[in-house]
Amino acid sequence: MMQQYLGLKAQHPNILLFYRMGDFYELFFDDARRAAELLDITLTTRGQSAGEPIPMAGVPYHAAEGYLARLVKLGESVAICEQVGDPAASKGPVERQVVRVVTPGTLTDDALLDARRENLLAAACKVGKAWGLARIEVSTARCVVAQYSELQTLHNDLARLRPAELLAPESLIAELQTLDKPATTRPDWHFEPQSAANRLCERLAVTDLTGFGCADLPAAIGAAGALLDYVDETQGSARVFVDGLQTEATDTALILDAISRRNLEIDQSLSGDHRYCITALLDRCTTAMGSRELARWLARPIRDRDVLLARYQAIDALLKASAAAPLLDQLRPVADIERILSRVSLRSARPRDLTGLQRSLAAVPGIAAALAELSSPLLDALSKQLGNHDALQDTLARALTDEPPVWLKDGGVIRPGFDDELDELRALSEHADGYLRELETRERKRLGADKLKVGYNRVHGYFIELSRAHSHKAPDDYTRRQTLKNAERFITPELKEFEDKVLSARERALAREKQLYDGLLDTITADLRPLTACAQALSSIDTLASLAERAAALNLAQPTLRNAPGLDIRGGRHLIVEAASDQPFVANDTTLDDQQRLLIITGPNMGGKSTFMRQTALITLLAYAGSFVPAVSAEIGPIDRIFTRIGAADDLAGGRSTFMVEMHETANILNNATEHSLVLMDEIGRGTSTYDGLSLARAAAEWLANKTRAFTLFATHYFELTALAEQLPATLNLHLDASEYGDDLVFLHRVKPGPANRSYGLQVAAKAGVPKAVITAARKHLQALEQDALRTHAPQIGLFDAAPTAQAEAPPPGDPLREHLAELDVDNLTPREAQDALYRLLELLD
Ligand code: ADP
Repeated sequence: MMQQYLGLKAQHPNILLFYRMGDFYELFFDDARRAAELLDITLTTRGQSAGEPIPMAGVPYHAAEGYLARLVKLGESVAICEQVGDPAASKGPVERQVVRVVTPGTLTDDALLDARRENLLAAACKVGKAWGLARIEVSTARCVVAQYSELQTLHNDLARLRPAELLAPESLIAELQTLDKPATTRPDWHFEPQSAANRLCERLAVTDLTGFGCADLPAAIGAAGALLDYVDETQGSARVFVDGLQTEATDTALILDAISRRNLEIDQSLSGDHRYCITALLDRCTTAMGSRELARWLARPIRDRDVLLARYQAIDALLKASAAAPLLDQLRPVADIERILSRVSLRSARPRDLTGLQRSLAAVPGIAAALAELSSPLLDALSKQLGNHDALQDTLARALTDEPPVWLKDGGVIRPGFDDELDELRALSEHADGYLRELETRERKRLGADKLKVGYNRVHGYFIELSRAHSHKAPDDYTRRQTLKNAERFITPELKEFEDKVLSARERALAREKQLYDGLLDTITADLRPLTACAQALSSIDTLASLAERAAALNLAQPTLRNAPGLDIRGGRHLIVEAASDQPFVANDTTLDDQQRLLIITGPNMGGKSTFMRQTALITLLAYAGSFVPAVSAEIGPIDRIFTRIGAADDLAGGRSTFMVEMHETANILNNATEHSLVLMDEIGRGTSTYDGLSLARAAAEWLANKTRAFTLFATHYFELTALAEQLPATLNLHLDASEYGDDLVFLHRVKPGPANRSYGLQVAAKAGVPKAVITAARKHLQALEQDALRTHAPQIGLFDAAPTAQAEAPPPGDPLREHLAELDVDNLTPREAQDALYRLLELLD
């Protein structure tokens, strides 16, 4: 047995091997140690190898799914090895084979999948200078390829897609490594484009790949080839039905890098509370397919006007007819048929998958009828795409019982009346009860033993039981089967004959049922293409209905796409801040156009700067996803990318300091933003000394205004930067205000023109609960610093003497600012006066 085990293990050296032994899957040697640690199961030993006990761990086969799910979540892959030979017929160990490999990226089993999220397997490679990426969701068999000229863009896409598993050629592991999990290494030659193209053509039954739009994308093809090979390897003898390849154009998407995706909380919230990310807030889809589609739309905003307008129109039509909620309701019977169809093609679909498909198809005509009432070309097209599946639906409804068991082998899947042969076989086994009762009465009478019982047990089969006291009454035709403490059990030739008939009828009924079930799978497989189209249409319909429902519930407005550069948002809101707070949200406007490309935003901490910037980006992004937006109105011009440099989280895992992270992100923006990009810069320069920081922030703002000309929202605590509005083209100051009521500070969250006049740093600190004594001390230090600064700078414009306390000689008349400053008694200023004076002085110096 160990020899057999080691032979199988040698074929799967790097992953865990579940080796079937009776009712258990067992793991040996290092596999056992690893599994024991990961699953917290007992590590024991079995037998010996080279005189040493063999470490062993095992899991019961009926509970294997749960363990598999945990291992896969931890990023492990598992080869499942089953007994394939007949134990009775074989000498030595039963023949065993690895029947499938469960890997994080190739799951199809519902129990192992998250219904509302795509579970993607991806493969990446490089051919010449181009990078290729192919991905598939094995459970829905959707295969998409793309090719990039830069590695960074590929990484952006990986961040968007978050594949459960990434395949990479051996030689490129380092470049393709994403931070959070190791890639699965594959030999380089698996990615070779020419042979990959041949394998793909053969598999997709086409002569070349032109029709899929990727014939001239060798890197994409190489990746797709390696990807599908791997899928086949893991699925054992079954083959995933892949309809075709979809080529994703990299130039039609609104580009969003990984950092921005995180900062804007598109699919994950920064706080970790999943309810507060954009995807969760907008997802009211009924079906899991719809949720996955919506997540795809939001994760990949597109710049194709026609597609976007069609989506807006569809949402508008649903809203006008108040049709969203009823439609979402109509979708309730629809199961995850995308994944069901994939299991059908793998022939691993279970009885309840088929009833799920049947109920889904039964709902289709009603959904199509509801769509026919609405005037939207997109909904019209989707309604046509649904297709007519009445015949299949009818077959399934007639063939399947309403609540079939989980497993086909339990029987009772096919409905009585569907097949005569099956009905007959079932009748045979079911009439057994009547016969047995009749036999019991008959034998009681014959033997005069009224305690005589006819029964059945799994080991010994049918029997007639006599109590010990009566056992001497057993006639000659009784043969002893089993002796118990107080009873004897017998069989008679008549009962034996009956037993054979019943048992074989039961077996034959099950076999017949399996045959009929396979026939149903064939029937569905013949329709796989139109059914897949139907599933995709249902996903889009669900997504649009969810967006329409949200548009009504969250008071969203239809955006207008315009050709003029920039944005004009009236009454814009931030969906997440609004949802997470019980305070009313203060709506704000954003205008960006050729006259105002750089907005310098000042105001106290907590004033709402960052909220305002993010809401501008989110509204843009939602418009480009085809959704309505949280604003009174929004005109959106052509935007190619959104960049964000927000907050400073230490990348401890990556070994980069806060400042280094900040500068990496800044460098990326300065190098890549274009005049069509939307850039959010929040407090750059914070991570270093004041003067370094200020200088960097200023130089970055100048570069963005003069050179890049990107649409930029630039929040800063360096008040000095507000002077840039006078010096740079198309630059404007905005501020968020706060008011003081006595000692208290109230944030108004309203965006106003002009620079902020105060930073309220000490008040914010006090509000946050910093002890009063510390605030008082800080006020003193501030005053001293500002007086120092005044004394240092003032002489430069001839205001004061070099001697710190003496007054300067009278300034030239006619300049009120200078006159005012000259009159100051530097040592006796209140903090407010000192700060004001300092700012004025700096203005003069500039
Ligand atoms: P800043 O970036 O200026 O420090 P934030 O944008 O982080 O400030 O805002 C701080 C808090 O103020 C937010 O978490 C939110 O609770 C609240 N807030 C911000 N903007 C608004 C607004 N427009 N309406 C209502 N509350 C807001």
